[in-house]
Amino acid sequence: MTLKDIVNRFFLIEILKGMALTFKMMCTRAVTIQYPKQRRKIFPGFRGKHAFVRDAKTGKEKCIGCMKCANMCPAQCIYITKTKIENKMVVEKYDIEALRCIYCGYCVEVCPTCALVLTEAYEYSAYTKDEIYFNKAKLLQNWDDFASTYPADEYFNKFWRPDGIDTSKMVKAKKEQGPVPTRPVPQPAEPQPETPAEKPPEKPAEKTETKETE
Ligand code: SF4
Ligand code: SF4
Repeated sequence: MTLKDIVNRFFLIEILKGMALTFKMMCTRAVTIQYPKQRRKIFPGFRGKHAFVRDAKTGKEKCIGCMKCANMCPAQCIYITKTKIENKMVVEKYDIEALRCIYCGYCVEVCPTCALVLTEAYEYSAYTKDEIYFNKAKLLQNWDDFASTYPADEYFNKFWRPDGIDTSKMVKAKKEQGPVPTRPVPQPAEPQPETPAEKPPEKPAEKTETKETE
């Protein structure tokens, strides 16, 4: 033990230093907040709950099943199944096993249609694994839940067009992607199937008077 250590121990130098720091911090503004009554402002680009952006024109998801997100995902937690219906490719199944996700955001960056987003929603703890396994319907519901509480009428995720990436090399849809509405957009009424023209009511057959011959 050195002389310095002995002096420190005798005069309780380390304890005095700690007490000095405590008194100093007592006079500064508290950095803690009373969660959940108080919440911090979420910074743009926070990567939270996954969602499928609802297309304002169709009211559905914008995924075209290109598989880029699934191929890019380092956690391999995106499962997509496609099928051909009337010569058109349709995404039959799109699932994200969010418990395996590492929230890297690559799936959002790579998506050519900006269909996917990691929203700023962070409160989604659950009691079962199934609740954090997002299928297509859940992903759309996640968007509706997030959009309905979002403080502005429009939303743009910074990972749809990340900083430092040459936009001229992006596909058209990604290049032109602007903010999306967060409030419900009235959908055009679906065309109703034509009903056959109603037939006019049949006239009752005219009575033909027959004269009885005497
Ligand atoms: S954020 Fe990363 S780990 Fe999570 S689903 Fe997307 S690509 Fe996969
Ligand atoms: S990258 Fe986008 S469009 Fe392609 S499969 Fe994934 S979510 Fe769908």
